[in-house]
Amino acid sequence: MNEIIDLRSDTLTKPSIAMKDFMLNCEVGDDVYGEDPTVNLLEEKMAKLTGKESALFVTSGTQSNLLALLSHCQRGEEYICGQEAHLYKYEAGGASVLGGIQAQPLVYEDNGSLNLELVKSVIKPEDSHFARSKLLCLENTHDGKVLPLKYLEEAQQFASENNLLLHLDGARVFNAAVSLSIKLVDICKYFDSVSLCLSKGLGAPVGSVLVGPASFIQEARRYRKMLGGGMRQSGILAAAGLFCISNNINDLKKDHDNAKLLHEGLSTIEELEVLSSDTNMLFIQVSQDIEQALLQYLKENNILISGYGQLRLVTHRDVSSEDIHKVIDVFKDFFKTS
Ligand SMILES: *Cc1c(COP(=O)(O)O)cnc(C)c1O
Repeated sequence: MNEIIDLRSDTLTKPSIAMKDFMLNCEVGDDVYGEDPTVNLLEEKMAKLTGKESALFVTSGTQSNLLALLSHCQRGEEYICGQEAHLYKYEAGGASVLGGIQAQPLVYEDNGSLNLELVKSVIKPEDSHFARSKLLCLENTHDGKVLPLKYLEEAQQFASENNLLLHLDGARVFNAAVSLSIKLVDICKYFDSVSLCLSKGLGAPVGSVLVGPASFIQEARRYRKMLGGGMRQSGILAAAGLFCISNNINDLKKDHDNAKLLHEGLSTIEELEVLSSDTNMLFIQVSQDIEQALLQYLKENNILISGYGQLRLVTHRDVSSEDIHKVIDVFKDFFKTS
């Protein structure tokens, strides 16, 4: 039987045997007591890697972003973010449900940034009519696009001049750092807090990390407990994260190269419009009437891609360059025969 080539998301990576061995052999304790040495080590290493005072190991990127919003903002305050920001659009409205925190979404620029003039125009004056603008949230990477360092510098300056805190949804910030060939800290230094996913391209089965100042992380730890995210011998999960940050970060380059290869291959097909990103994602557009047939044909050939809204293909560590060549061939066959 043919193996499935799953390009729906980089969340689909499965733990390797080496990772499982490492998890099996880690030391554990009760993390709610602060006594899990593996969790403590992961948090220490992540704080160091991102240049922040403290870190908190959490269940998911959604929980991590929610903790950041709850810890930065009080009831009646607001955060400004992109219209398509994961933490606004794809996290079930957690901040408003659980925190009484309002969102002020804005349309993203084509490069995944928020226009700072536009942000300026929605900051509310101190007046009893308005929610209090408290926090600006960026996403890096957004749709695989890497925010330029120059922009991050401007955003930091802007936030400080306008009395806003700055949070990064860095679910894929490892990809951004690898793409720019810089250290993680060179991106994270512009932000008050950053959320990072271990379970995307890095390959851990579970887990995200929130980093920031010690007092902020202390607050986030309380909210994590409140949300039921205080786990016990969670070192067994944190071990996967430790394994990833020691072994897997540089492998993201391979995913980016594969995305490039895929882009080159698919761009030769006339009927397709292919949008590439800087990292591990591609978006394609085909006419509406053949979209379903295309998805079906790919599926029959053991290839899965993400098909709601725009068609999205994501490369990750469980996809090889041979797989990419096969995908390109199957696409070409489809358009030859259709
Ligand atoms: C995946 C993702 C998240 C959320 O992570 P989960 O672990 O799936 O909850 C947050 N932000 C972005 C940009 C993501 O891609």
